[in-house]
Amino acid sequence: MGLTQKILLFTSLLVVALVATTVAYTSIEANRLAHQNVDRALLEGKAFWDGFQQDRYAKLKLGLGVLANDPAFKAAVQTHDPATIKDILQERGRDLGADFFIATDPAGRVVGRSDEGWNEGEDLGKDPVVRGPLDGDSSSSTLWRRGKTLFQAVSMPMQIGETAVGVLVAGYRISEGLANQIQRLTQSEVAFLSRDGARPLELSVASQGVEAPALRALLEARRLPSSGSPFELDLDGDRHVAIDIPLKAATGEDMGSMLIMKSLATERAAFDRFRSSLVFTSLVVMAAGLVVAYWGAARITGPLSLLVALVERVREGSYAGAVTITSSDEIGTLATAFDRMREGIADREEKIRRMALQDPLTGLPNRSLFVDRVEHALGLLERGSDELAVVTLDIDRFKDVNETLGHVLGDRVLQDVASRLQNALRSSDTVARFGADEFGVLLSGAGGEEALRVCRKILGTFEVPLVIEGQRLHLAASVGVAMGGSHGRDAESLIRNAGKAMAVAKRNNAGFALYDPSYDTRESRLWLIEELRNALERRELCVHFQPKAALKTGSVSQVEALVRWIHPERGTIPPDQFIPLAEQTGLVRSVTRYVLEESIRQAGAWQSRGLPLEVAVNISARDLWDAELPGEITRMVQAAAVEPQRVRLEITESAIMEDPERALDILKNSTDLGFRLSIDDFGTGYSSLAYLRKLPVDELKIDRSFVKGMVADRGDSAIVQSTIDLGHNMGLEVVAEGVESGTVWEALKGAGCDLAQGYFLSKPLPPNDLERWLRERRHKEGVRGIGD
Ligand code: C2E
Ligand code: CA
Ligand code: CA
Repeated sequence: MGLTQKILLFTSLLVVALVATTVAYTSIEANRLAHQNVDRALLEGKAFWDGFQQDRYAKLKLGLGVLANDPAFKAAVQTHDPATIKDILQERGRDLGADFFIATDPAGRVVGRSDEGWNEGEDLGKDPVVRGPLDGDSSSSTLWRRGKTLFQAVSMPMQIGETAVGVLVAGYRISEGLANQIQRLTQSEVAFLSRDGARPLELSVASQGVEAPALRALLEARRLPSSGSPFELDLDGDRHVAIDIPLKAATGEDMGSMLIMKSLATERAAFDRFRSSLVFTSLVVMAAGLVVAYWGAARITGPLSLLVALVERVREGSYAGAVTITSSDEIGTLATAFDRMREGIADREEKIRRMALQDPLTGLPNRSLFVDRVEHALGLLERGSDELAVVTLDIDRFKDVNETLGHVLGDRVLQDVASRLQNALRSSDTVARFGADEFGVLLSGAGGEEALRVCRKILGTFEVPLVIEGQRLHLAASVGVAMGGSHGRDAESLIRNAGKAMAVAKRNNAGFALYDPSYDTRESRLWLIEELRNALERRELCVHFQPKAALKTGSVSQVEALVRWIHPERGTIPPDQFIPLAEQTGLVRSVTRYVLEESIRQAGAWQSRGLPLEVAVNISARDLWDAELPGEITRMVQAAAVEPQRVRLEITESAIMEDPERALDILKNSTDLGFRLSIDDFGTGYSSLAYLRKLPVDELKIDRSFVKGMVADRGDSAIVQSTIDLGHNMGLEVVAEGVESGTVWEALKGAGCDLAQGYFLSKPLPPNDLERWLRERRHKEGVRGIGD
């Protein structure tokens, strides 16, 4: 149920309850008032009756007195002259307002009358009406009953001198007319009931409107209470309140009673009308109340649903549109509070949004916004729009600036650089800060020439020294440029390539550089060198050993040390890939020392375990420049307690030929120290025989490219054969490397080659595996050597 319905329901319940209590209360009160009114009316009726009776009595008594003293009348009574009596009575009676007159003789017998109700000569002597005056009462008044009819009578004695002439009686009938008259005057219904001795009450007369049959039925059933106080009476379904006034003769004889009644329904009719109009008014008020309640509810729920709609909008992330509720009540306060909340959220969200896309220090767009703009520009480029260039900039030695000036001033430097960049560029270009001292610029519509011009302009801004806290600061920057499209199809690779160009510019102190695709190979080489340096530091390189076997006997007394690099991310990196690089950068000297150290240590270990092996280590061209190397190897063999002649240095033919003089020096030096020498990859270096003769080597290793082809290729086979012969002529041992099959093995054996090395014998193995391999082989060799 909605708020409006609740308010309407509540209001109508309130109005209904109010009307119900009012109607109930007024009903009770009206009933009470009706009873009270009726009771009062009845008592008034009783009082009226009493007064009425006395009035009539006084009037009759006066008239009777005049008549009783009328000599002519008295004479007529005395003479029993009924005609005269009747004439006089009828004439006077009209004046007195009496219904009847009777005159009796002194014995109480009727001598004259005005009415047919009494007979001439009738004896009323015993009747109290007549008896009293006969016995000497001057006058008496009483109720008189004849049959069902009731009368009010006044009697008076008539005398002539001392002689009693008779009695004069006058009175009136308690008739329907009288009852009606009383009803008119008292506004109450009236009934006279008569009683004859012990017989039940009988209806004598009743005023108009009294339900006579119903009253008669009640009387016959003797269902009429007799009491002085008002009682209720049901007359044919109409409730009455009645009062009963006993009618008694002067002698005290019970004549019956007079009932004064009032209908409650009549009395309440006025109230009922009032109640109907009350209910009607209430209904009107209720309808009006509902209209007002609806209006009031709408005033509350209207703004509320407006607020709900707004909350919904805010929830969906739309903060536009202020609340338009201006009322000064609680709803208005709520609306204002809500509006403030809405503004607060909008503000904070705007701030978060800015922070997500803006660099807080310089207020420049951050990297993600920059990427976004570059992507957008690239999108336009695809649709044939202008060219674009991405520029990255890095302040040279900013670390030093930060360290000497502190971070606070360092931040000011960055802010200054930011504003200089912005001033140097067009407003259509985007300047962003990537973080630290790195900035990016998007030049839309710029070709290569224009981009380089802007780079110069940017660098120009650094020529003016920065003044921070009175200190003049000379800064320099390196800038790299990548062109949209040709140097990258997406923002990230454009930024990355501009960064590579920037790194080159920095390395070469060139100020700026345009990206060149060849940087990529250079880049990966730099990376590799860096990683190799780390691997050496962390001693992540390891050395594997490949055995050489004597072709005649198959016995193994020599192994070649070969470096292995398993990079944690790149996996195995073959020596062919990193050794040449290491040679270029000079790092190879560290590699050589490393391998020498590991190998000699290993040789010492094997020797101590009863495996005396000669270890051959590859020496690169660069090592031949290292005059200290022989001395160092000496320290190593001493430390490992290995005889120097168990260490062999393999030097490629081409390495020797790079600088033959120097090579000769160091090689001599080495052999003087007791080490052995091999010429590696023989046949690829174009060495002169004359020179070779001067070298203190004792072994030649035929390059594997010849060995591999010697079975299939006549030329290779000839080279192998002549190399063997040449070596032997020079008194050298000849080793064939890269022996992959038994056929080659046999061919070499046939050719008189001394030693063989290759996968056919064994792959290079980790030291432990090699040791196991050797022990197993020695065991077999004890029975029969390989190849034999
Ligand atoms: P290298 O001195 O000629 O070494 C022999 C190479 O031939 C090794 O390659 C070895 O694994 C491989 N090999 C041995 N038997 C066979 C075979 O039957 N068939 C074929 N196809 N190849 C075989 P690796 O280990 O990849 O080394 C390649 C080159 O890297 C070496 O040629 C050497 O010049 C250089 N190198 C290796 N270790 C070192 C080192 O510790 N110091 C220096 N300076 N150079 C090294
Ligand atoms: Ca070698
Ligand atoms: Ca070789």
